[in-house]
Amino acid sequence: MSSEEISRIVVIGGGQAGGYACKALRGEGYAGRLTVVADEPHDFYERPPLSKGVVTADEPLPRLFPEDSLAALDIDWRRPRRASAIDRQAQEVVLDDGERLPYDRLLIATGSRPRLPVPEWAEIDHVMTLRTWDDATRLKARLGESRRLGVIGGGWIGLEVASSARKLGLEVDVFERAPALCGRSVGPEVAEAIRELHERHGVGLALNRQEIQLSEAADGRVTITADGEARAPYDLVVVGVGVEINLELARDAGLRTEQGIVVDAAGQTSDPRIFAAGDVSQHPQLGLCLQSWAYAQNQARVVAEAMLGQAAHYDEPAWLWSDQHGVNIQILGVPSGELRCVVRREAQGPVFFYLDDAQRLVQMVAFDQPRAIKLGKRWIAAGRVLDAGELADPDFNLMSLR
Ligand code: NAP
Repeated sequence: MSSEEISRIVVIGGGQAGGYACKALRGEGYAGRLTVVADEPHDFYERPPLSKGVVTADEPLPRLFPEDSLAALDIDWRRPRRASAIDRQAQEVVLDDGERLPYDRLLIATGSRPRLPVPEWAEIDHVMTLRTWDDATRLKARLGESRRLGVIGGGWIGLEVASSARKLGLEVDVFERAPALCGRSVGPEVAEAIRELHERHGVGLALNRQEIQLSEAADGRVTITADGEARAPYDLVVVGVGVEINLELARDAGLRTEQGIVVDAAGQTSDPRIFAAGDVSQHPQLGLCLQSWAYAQNQARVVAEAMLGQAAHYDEPAWLWSDQHGVNIQILGVPSGELRCVVRREAQGPVFFYLDDAQRLVQMVAFDQPRAIKLGKRWIAAGRVLDAGELADPDFNLMSLR
């Protein structure tokens, strides 16, 4: 099929993955029609600053590309619009207003949306989630009028918002269902270090709270009752309890889906004309939706090449980072419950290494040490055998293992 002429590409989704795919398509010389269907009115932007600089300072829309570079991509926008169906037989995307967009290749980059455990919480004015630029500008305004913030969910959104709110001088309490913070991404040793960081900065942490109820008072403030215990009301509650993957279009079109859309290392779905990238696509080797900035960007670039018929293969390890209370936390690889060889190194900040039985690196978490993470990426790629004693010794120079 790679010899077939490709002159109409449709991208559903105007997020990080959609943006980087468009850039890579043009970068690879694709000169045909490039249509992007996006449900937000804004140009492509980065999400990481939304929980940080955008709420603590007056940062403008964190554009993915400068305006002139974006214009050079010559995108035929449909925004704000939503795709309502994919007609695979006709090779057309159907939009919510009935327009049909024919495609030779289609990229689904529909991402994910914040989950709300109780649908009625959406009706409480002072309760919100954070995903989009519009959410972030609303959050910034609300934090400016608030003294007390309650956060439901001790994952990345919750902890980054808690950190930003402390920077702005608010009192903050985080309520988490699990006994540890960020339990899906890191092991208990790292979760403990993150807990200490937040406690040092005055964040109240209520872990292991199974039953959370919200009630709105007449003045708009919100009471959080956790396992039967009510706290003084909060001026604002932010909910960050994970996401729902926007899988509906793919599922309704009969594409193979599991946790996300099932794709191969080239991002190709069970329909060879349809590709998927970013949050909505299941990592080809790990079999889960990584939901990370690095995956959305780098996998999308690879997928764009594959859409043009080039041999392309994505196999990077998981990598994510977070800034909390002025500390940069980087996580390489995913946790594995069975791994018990954990090495802790104390340098400028802690570094945690999780090794398998053959002493190869499986996961690594570094506080304020990006260079160590760069080394870890090489070790994982090379399957390097490591010495736990050397890793733990603060006098041992890790750079000697380059
Ligand atoms: P997340 O990182 O998955 O964390 C959600 C947390 O909320 C989990 O610890 C979860 O515990 C907990 N939780 C679930 N239901 C709960 C409930 N009813 N009450 C209290 N706690 C509950 O998701 P997120 O923080 O909402 O972030 C959304 C997405 O954005 C994620 O995909 C995340 O990776 C991404 N993100 C990434 C970054 C970054 O890379 N720096 C920053 C922000 C957001 P269980 O595990 O027990 O369910």
